[in-house]
Amino acid sequence: MDTLSHALWGRGFFGYRGHPYWSLFFGALPDLCSFGILFIISFIKNLFLSENINYRNMDLPEWLYNAYDISHSLLIAAITIMLVYLYGNKKFAFAMLAWPAHILLDFPFHTADFFPTPILWPLIEVKFNGISWATPYVWFSNITGLIVLYIFRFRNRKKILK
Ligand SMILES: [Zn+2]
Repeated sequence: MDTLSHALWGRGFFGYRGHPYWSLFFGALPDLCSFGILFIISFIKNLFLSENINYRNMDLPEWLYNAYDISHSLLIAAITIMLVYLYGNKKFAFAMLAWPAHILLDFPFHTADFFPTPILWPLIEVKFNGISWATPYVWFSNITGLIVLYIFRFRNRKKILK
């Protein structure tokens, strides 16, 4: 899924018990920690070194794959959230659940040849060949799902206010 959709799913599912912005952030976190960093580095290189980077044909650096594995592992997410739940703030840990939600959404919607989701990294290498999220019917279902979720949240909020 694209990063914005991930952030919105995170907010929709886990942003209603406080920390709405953190749930947006954690929804996007796995991509920010991998492609986001690559984007910033490329941007700075373009700006200061006037290196023209062609995003389509560029060789992806090795660290990107490592960062992708770490940030897209359910094990890493579960351990981190468990620690925050036990020793930190329980409400904050709830907002953090947007992170594993991102991983679970990526899992069926990435093909095996473009960043399959390493959900059980580093224990087991899982390579699931899913349907790309850019496939029109997946993409439109994603948007429809988000709209339904936000209508539901909006209606529930009204109920609470009454
Ligand atoms: Zn992702």
